[in-house]
Amino acid sequence: MTAGGYVGRFAPTPSGPLHLGSLLTATASWLDARARNGRWLLRIDDVDAPRQAPDAEAAILRSLRRHGLAWDGPVVRQSGLRSHHRAALRRLGGHVFACRCARRELRGLERYPGTCRNLSLPHAGNAIRVRAEDQPRTFTDRLQGRSPTTAEKGDFIVWRRDDLPAYPLAVVADDHAMGVTHVVRGADLLDNTPRQLHLLSRLGIQAPSYAHIPVLVTASGEKLSKHNGVTALDDQAATLNLAAVLGLLGLDPPAGRTCPARLLEWARPRWRVSRLPRTRTIEGFTALE
Ligand SMILES: [Zn+2]
Repeated sequence: MTAGGYVGRFAPTPSGPLHLGSLLTATASWLDARARNGRWLLRIDDVDAPRQAPDAEAAILRSLRRHGLAWDGPVVRQSGLRSHHRAALRRLGGHVFACRCARRELRGLERYPGTCRNLSLPHAGNAIRVRAEDQPRTFTDRLQGRSPTTAEKGDFIVWRRDDLPAYPLAVVADDHAMGVTHVVRGADLLDNTPRQLHLLSRLGIQAPSYAHIPVLVTASGEKLSKHNGVTALDDQAATLNLAAVLGLLGLDPPAGRTCPARLLEWARPRWRVSRLPRTRTIEGFTALE
């Protein structure tokens, strides 16, 4: 890797096999990295163990390989980065406090009311929150532009009561540990980004460049998941799947590209993040029907 080079990543949760929506994100992230001769890393976000489905990781790796999406270096597992999560929490120092509020006590509140802010409760056995700043944080997304951020809901959880890092802390620490410079991911994470930027700022880490791409939804607007009947990718149909995904990414490959590697080779120099709609969702459930 050259110093200052592009480092991208794909970070699926091993809760099930890839579906067309996750293939869309993986392909966009891969093309963005490869179009700039960058590295593309694979991280399995497995720290939330109860959500894991047996054999999901193997199925994800197999699908990526069959679809020609080769990654650089060894597979990184979030569970192997625990020391980085704990170090990030330590570095937040006086910006965090323990919170013993039960979820039901906060139900219906627009923002965390600061109940435990000055109680100096022990960290062990409690959730840990970081003090949020009052002013809203905006950032410029490569696709979505200057992103309106939802009003911050007050001090937010960075460490869970069950002793696991919360998503914004884990993702910030993981990406930093891996040297990630560019994040291409689903726009369902757009609203979480201000929290990540707040943590990055507190940790003194330079923020990566973000591109939040539309999430594939069903005709009724639901994100694809196994709950609305979306099935795993058929790896035997990898070329068809990839052609459909490239179409959704604003690239229409000519007929005759007979394997995923050739399709990706064709798409790589043509990739522009700006070809995508500047929306949070696209309806593409029927792309394969
Ligand atoms: Zn509290």
